[in-house]
Amino acid sequence: MLNAQKSIQAKETTWIIDHATGALTVEGLTERELLSVASDLLPEAAHVNCARPINAPPVQMGSPATAVAEEDSLYVFRVYHGSVVEGPGRRSVAQLSGCPILCRGCSVPQTHRLDAGTLLSISEVINLVLDTAGEPRDGVTVLGGEPFMQPDGLTALLRELKSRNQHLTLYSGYTIEELRARTEASVHEALSLADILIEGRFVVAQSQGAGEWRGSINQRIINNPATWRA
Ligand code: SF4
Repeated sequence: MLNAQKSIQAKETTWIIDHATGALTVEGLTERELLSVASDLLPEAAHVNCARPINAPPVQMGSPATAVAEEDSLYVFRVYHGSVVEGPGRRSVAQLSGCPILCRGCSVPQTHRLDAGTLLSISEVINLVLDTAGEPRDGVTVLGGEPFMQPDGLTALLRELKSRNQHLTLYSGYTIEELRARTEASVHEALSLADILIEGRFVVAQSQGAGEWRGSINQRIINNPATWRA
C-alpha cells in the first residue's frame, strides 16, 4: 500500500493506493476538487468517507427491527470489507445502527435510527465479518452510528472477534472520559478489548486536516484504551 501526502491549494490530502485491488482512496478533497486536479488520471469518483463505503448496502437478513437487542444480538446497518481508512491496514468493518449524539454535519445520518439496521445474532455478525472467501484482513473495525448505544451486544461481538485473534479498532462519538464514567460493566469490558479507540464528536469546523482515520481534529486516537491515562 502506498500512502502519499500531497498539498493542493493549501489543503492537506491523503492518497492511498491499494496495490492488491488498484483502488485509490483520496481524503481531503471534494469530488469537484479531485476532478479538477486529476480528471485525466481517474475514473468517475466515488466517496469512501467515514463509515460510508462503496457498494455496501444495508444488511438484509435477520429479525425485524422491532425486537429488543439482547446481549447476544446487535442492530447492524451493514458489513463491508477492504477499508483502508478506518484503522491500520486493510479492515473488515461492522457498522452498527443507532446514534443519539447527532453531530452537525454527520456523514452517516442514515445510521442514526436503531431500526435502520437489522437485528442479528452475534454469530451472524461474526459470519458476515469473517467469512469473506479469503478476503485479506489486518483487523476488524466496529463503528456506527454509535456502537456504545448497544454496549452488551458490542462487547459480546468484540469478545468473539478477539477470541479469533482479530486486531480491533473501535469508534465512538463519546469521549473516553464519558465512556469511563458509565456504570455498565460491558462498556468497560469493550474498552479493555479494543486495541484502538477513535473517540469524540465529529466537529465539522475541525474536519480539515484530520488525517487518515479521524473525521475531525478534536477526535483522539487512543491505543489500548483500557490503560489510557489523561
Ligand atoms: S457520533 Fe458519529 S454517527 Fe453519531 S452523529 Fe456523530 S458523527 Fe454521526
